[in-house]
This record gives sequence, C-alpha cells and structure tokens, in this order.
Amino acid sequence: MIDGSHRLNLAFLPTPMHELQNLSRRLGGPRLFIKRDDLTGMAFGGNKERKLEFILADALSAGAEVVITSGSIQTNHGRLTAAAARRVGMHPVLVLAGERPAELQGNLLLNDMAGADIHFVPRGRGDTEDARMDNENEITDRKVAELVAHYESQGRRVFVVPKAGATLSGVYSYVLAAQEAAYQATQARLSFHSVVVAAGGGGTLAGLHIGMNLYAPGTDVIGVSVGRGAARLEERVRDYAKGLLPDLGYGEFPIKAPIVEDGYVGEGYPIPSPASVEAARILAETEGIYVDLVYTGKAVAGLIGMIRQRRWKPEDNVLFWHTGGLPALFMQGAYLKH
Ligand SMILES: *Cc1c(COP(=O)(O)O)cnc(C)c1O
Repeated sequence: MIDGSHRLNLAFLPTPMHELQNLSRRLGGPRLFIKRDDLTGMAFGGNKERKLEFILADALSAGAEVVITSGSIQTNHGRLTAAAARRVGMHPVLVLAGERPAELQGNLLLNDMAGADIHFVPRGRGDTEDARMDNENEITDRKVAELVAHYESQGRRVFVVPKAGATLSGVYSYVLAAQEAAYQATQARLSFHSVVVAAGGGGTLAGLHIGMNLYAPGTDVIGVSVGRGAARLEERVRDYAKGLLPDLGYGEFPIKAPIVEDGYVGEGYPIPSPASVEAARILAETEGIYVDLVYTGKAVAGLIGMIRQRRWKPEDNVLFWHTGGLPALFMQGAYLKH
C-alpha cells in the first residue's frame, strides 16, 4: 500500500525546468526543454533521491540500523542510498559488481567518503545483455542475503533496498514527479508532445508514464534503454502500472502502451557508446549542461537520434528529463576522443 504522507524530505523540489534554445537551434529540431533532476540537491543529485524519500521512510519505520543495496561498480543509486542512509542515521552497506580498482574515483570515492562498507562481487555473464544482467542480479542478491544474515546474527536490524530503488513506492515518487512537471508546464503555458528519459530498471519511466497518463494525457513518455531490451522494459512498465493504479484509486484506468527505444544501448550496460559521447559533447557545447556517458548520455543520444529522424514537428515541445549521474563522468575520460 502506497502512503503519500509516509515520506522523508531529502530532495529540493520542485527541480527546475527550462528551455534549451541553443540545442534546439543546433539540431534544427522541435522546441526543447529540460527537467533538472540532476539538481535534486543531495550528494550530487539524481533520480534515486526521489525514490529514496519513500523507501528510506519505510526503513526508518522498520527501525533499521543498517541499509544494504547493490548495483554496478559506479552505481548512482548506491551513492545516493549511502548518502541518504547517513542523513537518517543509518549505516550504509553496498554490494558492487566489478573489481576493486587501484584508485577510488567517481561514485566509488564518494561511497568511501560516506564510510559505506563496500563488498565487491564478480560481474555477471551471459549471451545477451538481458541474460548477463539477470546473472549479475543473482550474484549480487546472493551476497546481499549473506550480509543480511551476518548483520542479523549480530542483532542489528537490516533493511534491503532493491537495486535501482525498484519498488512500487519508488515508482510512485515518479508519478508525483510527473505531476510536478505537468504543473510547471501549465504555469509556463506549455504542453509537451513527448518526455524523453533514460530507462535502466524502468521504475522512473513507469512512474513518469503513469503520471503523465493521469495528469497530462496528451504527453507521451519515451524511455531510452541504457541496457535492457524494449520488450522487457515495456513489460516492467505494464507490471508497475498494474501494481500501482489500484493503490492510487484508479483500478481500471486505461494506460497507453509504453514506448521504449532500445537502439541506443551500444555494447551494453554500463559501457559508453560513440553516440552517447557525441550527445554529451553536443549538450555541453550548446548549453553548458553535462551528462554522464552511460545513463543520461545514452538518453540524450536517443533524443538527438529521434530529432534527426524527424520524430517531431518544429512546433512540438519536447522535454528531456535529466536523471543525474554526473559523478560517473569523471571515470569516463578514456572514451572521449580528442
Ligand atoms: C538509475 C538511473 C537511471 C535509471 O533509472 P530506473 O528507474 O532504474 O530506470 C537513469 N539515470 C541515472 C543517472 C540513474 O542513476
């Protein structure tokens, strides 16, 4: 059951929304706007902060002392979970897939500074990116279960946050974010043809999709996949809608089919692609706004790719949703060609 009042106050909301005139001119595209969830405020910001306001409220009511979560080695979700746990007086523990590097950088450096206990496990293997990610989830989940048993045997109460904050309450936080953006659009006398957002686990996409269906039904939400295939993500969005709508009092509400573009994944998650490098450079050169190369960079690549394919008319308004992730950029210099 989702309870909207059961929520911590971690993020500075509403996040800004503004126009990207230079980018629009450079691409000869529709009118472009950006929603700045990179500026949620805590620990360099990002989309997981809205989700954690709900998830860690549950951890607090459960009386947890230790918070455990998992992800890839440069997980933004892990960084924000560690910082949020410290804010509410809990001890953060992270299970990360990858090898301990000689030098701590990016999100890993920030996690170390927050005093998180960090456990490294091997990366997943598989023939497809979906299979590899499923295998990696099994490996990290096994380690998380082991750590839960360890802390509980010491009499410490543990709360496990699913990877990427993938819970119904996390999705709900993005239903509210859609409502926030719909209100900002109304105030600015704008209506958006489309919202474009990065999709990892799909929770953010699902929340925005459900929220726009409810509060701005003329607006499509397009998820640009950073790893998973479109079929899998679309199924996730449908499942989240099925789980959440009855709780919100919209049992039979007709939700449009979700839209996922999976042509911008490149070699896989979390590996930068030539298109994400180009996209990140274009955004920085035109607007002085930065994106990392594995999440938001791929989503900007999707935005630019769709503009080049004339997906929108010049008079359409399109909103790019920046989901944060910047600390990882400082790990990605090797991918930038000079
Ligand atoms: C986690 C993350 C996403 C994806 O969010 P999901 O809700 O899992 O789809 C997108 N961008 C950034 C920067 C992230 O850290």
